[in-house]
Amino acid sequence: MVDGLKSNFPKKLLLASPRGFCAGVKRAIDTLNQLVKTHPGQTIYCYHQIVHNTHVVAEFEEKGVKFVNSIDEVPKGSIIVFSSHGVSPLVRLKAEDRRLTTIDATCPYVIKTHLEVKKYASEGDKIIYIGKPQHDEAVGTTGEALESTVIVQTPEEVESLEISPTEKVALVTQTTLSYDETEDLRKAMRKKFPQLIEPLKSDICMATQNRQNGVKELVKKEAELVIVLGSANSSNSNKLKKVAENMGAKAVLIDDISELDLNLLEGISCVGLTAGASLPEQLITEAITWFKEHGTKTVEEVVTAKKSFVSSPPVKIT
Ligand code: SF4
Repeated sequence: MVDGLKSNFPKKLLLASPRGFCAGVKRAIDTLNQLVKTHPGQTIYCYHQIVHNTHVVAEFEEKGVKFVNSIDEVPKGSIIVFSSHGVSPLVRLKAEDRRLTTIDATCPYVIKTHLEVKKYASEGDKIIYIGKPQHDEAVGTTGEALESTVIVQTPEEVESLEISPTEKVALVTQTTLSYDETEDLRKAMRKKFPQLIEPLKSDICMATQNRQNGVKELVKKEAELVIVLGSANSSNSNKLKKVAENMGAKAVLIDDISELDLNLLEGISCVGLTAGASLPEQLITEAITWFKEHGTKTVEEVVTAKKSFVSSPPVKIT
């Protein structure tokens, strides 16, 4: 038994599948890796963290990649990669002004929401964007049409919007939010704006939705504690934790298994394990090994959807 744990170590570990890397994250990481390989000795810059994961970022920093939060930090003529979360047209313009070579690793799902915002704005619609105002993705997407867009996070904020119900209003959503959470907001919007224009398919990407469904299944299969591996600034990882809590389980979000507070395992016989979309599989393997080495007898995979990386080759670098 692990030192400090008074009762028995959890007997069972349930692994959510799919978990970890999504197609968009893999594509962004492959793109940056490819650049590092093809430009030895040259500093590659990346606007914002390539993906929201401290391990991935630290590994790239070791390889010499510099992450910046402002284009002004990048020397003229350098190579800059736009992260998987996307950037606003203003950032693209600044990069052009500095004569930077730009490589765009924005996830195709995020690009879809950029195109929606541009289309609705060009048609004169008001756009209500469900998202976190400070999140890189929200900043980039709403930056496509700042004057036409308003960001909301709660049904109360929808209520207090000073937009006439007769105006043409379109809805766009940050890709990594919980479906349940946005459904409440959608209801509030449909009520206030009967002519609300909604995307044909939800903007929430399937990778996000599948991982959330996986967490629900872990709890249904009696995981009393759900461990989410991921970083604190990862929106989809935070949502996985919230989904588990909403299902009545205990949940914790940690960067890797070494951060686990052992007190959380006290009295727990079945643990669920999942990972945010930007977490490398190696860290999941380490967590599984840790549980096995400490006495967990049964490790069971709970598959709720197929994981697929189809149609996500790295960005072509010329
Ligand atoms: S979570 Fe979805 S939107 Fe975000 S990078 Fe992955 S595939 Fe793209």
